[in-house]
Amino acid sequence: MYNRLKSIIENIKIIDDHGHPGFANYFAGLPANQRIPFATDEYKTPEESSGGFPYLRELHYEAYDRLYGFKREAIQDVEQNSQLAAKYSEKRQAIADYIDDIMDQAGVEILMANIALPDELKNKPNIRFVPAVDPLVFPFDNSYLKKRALSNYFIGYFEYVLAAWKTQYQYNEEGFDGYLGFVDRILAGFMADNVAAFKFVMAYARSTYFAYVPMEEGSLLYEAARKGDLQAYTKLQDLLVWYILRKIVAYDRAVQFHFAITDNYVNYFEPLNLANILENEELKNAKIVILHGGYPRYSSAEILALGGLTPNNVCIDISGRIMFANHPKIIAKMLRGWLEKPLLWEKIIYGSDVLWGERYIYTCAKTGRDAVYFALSGMIDDDIIDEEIAISIAWKIFRENALRIYNL
Ligand SMILES: [Zn+2]
Repeated sequence: MYNRLKSIIENIKIIDDHGHPGFANYFAGLPANQRIPFATDEYKTPEESSGGFPYLRELHYEAYDRLYGFKREAIQDVEQNSQLAAKYSEKRQAIADYIDDIMDQAGVEILMANIALPDELKNKPNIRFVPAVDPLVFPFDNSYLKKRALSNYFIGYFEYVLAAWKTQYQYNEEGFDGYLGFVDRILAGFMADNVAAFKFVMAYARSTYFAYVPMEEGSLLYEAARKGDLQAYTKLQDLLVWYILRKIVAYDRAVQFHFAITDNYVNYFEPLNLANILENEELKNAKIVILHGGYPRYSSAEILALGGLTPNNVCIDISGRIMFANHPKIIAKMLRGWLEKPLLWEKIIYGSDVLWGERYIYTCAKTGRDAVYFALSGMIDDDIIDEEIAISIAWKIFRENALRIYNL
C-alpha cells in the first residue's frame, strides 16, 4: 500500500467534467414524445445497481446509508420497498436541497452538467452548464434519421429544443445567412451565461464524420436541404458542425463529443471520425474532449489524443460506461494502457456521467479514486514511475487537466 498516494487520492477535491444531475426532473416537465426515455431515476436496490459486481453493490449500500439514511436492513426488507421508493422520489424532486451535501460527501467541488438542467440547479457556482448544440444542426425534416429508437428520441428532443430557441430568440425562416446569424446569437447567449463548454451528442443520431464543406456552398445547400434533398441536408449538417466548432474555438471553449457504444450503427461513435477536423489549420488546436473514452474504442480515443507533431488539445474523459457500472480493477487495466504514454497524463479527465440518481456522484467518485489508485500503484510496483510522479498524475486526472482544458 502506498499510503501517501492513497490518502492524497482519497482527499483530492474532484472536478467532475460530465454528468446529468436533475436530468429526470428536467425531462418530467417535457411532453412525453419529446423526452429521452432513459432519463429516469426510480429507486433501485444496491443489487439492481451493481452491474453484477459485489464491489458496486456494497458501494450503493454505503451511498444509500450516507446520502439517504436508508439502512441495509431496511433495504433488504421487501415490506419496506415501496416506502423507500416513495422517500427516494421525494428526495429526487427536492434535489436542489441535497445536491451540495451529496457533492460534499463525494469530495466533488465542481460538477459539469450537460444537455439540460432543471431550473432549480441553475446558477449554482458548483454546477457548471455544458449545453448540447446539436439542435442547431438539424433545422429541417429529420424523419429519415428517426429509424432507430435512440436516434428517434434524440432527434425528437433536438427538434423540441430548436423550436424553443426559435421562439426565445424570435427567429423565423430567414434563409442561410439569417440562420447563421441565429446560430451566432444562440452561442453568444450561452457565452453570456458563462457556460463551461459545449457538447455534441449526435453520435446517437447520425455519423460523427463531418466532411469539410466550403461556406460558399452554404446558401445552395440550405435551399436544397429545405426542399428535402437529403444529400444536401447531410452536407449542410457537416457545414454547420464546422461553423459551430470555429465559433467555439474563437470563444476558447472546449467541446465534448459523446462517443460510446449505443443502440445505433457502430460507425457513428468512432472517435477517429474527427481526424479530418484536426487536419484543418483553423481547427487543429480545438479543445476536443472524447467522452466516455470512446467506450470501448479506447485505442481510437488514444490515437486521436496522441496525433500530431506537437501535442494537440484532444482530451479523454473517463465518465459513463467506463465508470458507473464497472469495477475499479477493470478500469485500472484500461487506464494503465493510456498511462503508459506520458503524453496522456495531461489528457485524461475524470467524469461520472451521473444520470440514474445523484448517488452516482458519490459511487463514481469512489470507484474512480480506487481505479486511479490501482492503476498508479501497479505502475509503481513495476518500477515504471515513483510515488511522487503517481501523485502528480492523480492530481491531473481528478483536477488539473479539467481546470486547464475548460478554463475553470
Ligand atoms: Zn452523459
